[in-house]
Amino acid sequence: FTGKTGSELLTEKLKKFKVSEYQSVPIVVEEDVSVYDAICMMFLEDVGTLFVTDESSNLAGVLSRKDLLRASIGNQDLTSIPVHIIMTRMPNITICRQDDLLIDAAQKLIEKQIDALPVVHDTDDGMEVVGRLTKTNMTKALVELARDQHL
Ligand code: ADP
Repeated sequence: FTGKTGSELLTEKLKKFKVSEYQSVPIVVEEDVSVYDAICMMFLEDVGTLFVTDESSNLAGVLSRKDLLRASIGNQDLTSIPVHIIMTRMPNITICRQDDLLIDAAQKLIEKQIDALPVVHDTDDGMEVVGRLTKTNMTKALVELARDQHL
């Protein structure tokens, strides 16, 4: 018997969760894709955040639902606006890595008031997007914790 309280045990378990265990597949578009095509992609792939890559396939930006809505209001021709005009761009992107603790990634989502983080690997000239970590992934972790699947 360790003498640990229930909440101490829960915290201990939570602190073993890694980003890699909960991340989803990233949905990526290139930076010269139109706002129109990005909206189609968001619906087809059923995600709330798209990641944008440059010509070397490195992370260049992020597109949220509201970024696309904002660009759509009062704009006639969404097929002629490339997403790099409206995206949130590097170096202002909050990222995480596969071996980060899930709880640290959750803290970033709260601090920055965003819905998703790209999971990245470093490359020679930038960062490659290897995953997507969202509030939904966090909810799944919470449910698992409650069901004691990590005992
Ligand atoms: P929404 O805008 O649909 O409410 P978010 O809250 O995720 O979705 O996004 C808010 C703003 O923050 C958007 O302008 C978006 O481009 C930006 N954003 C989203 N994710 C990130 C991120 N990981 N790093 C930096 N900025 C981000």
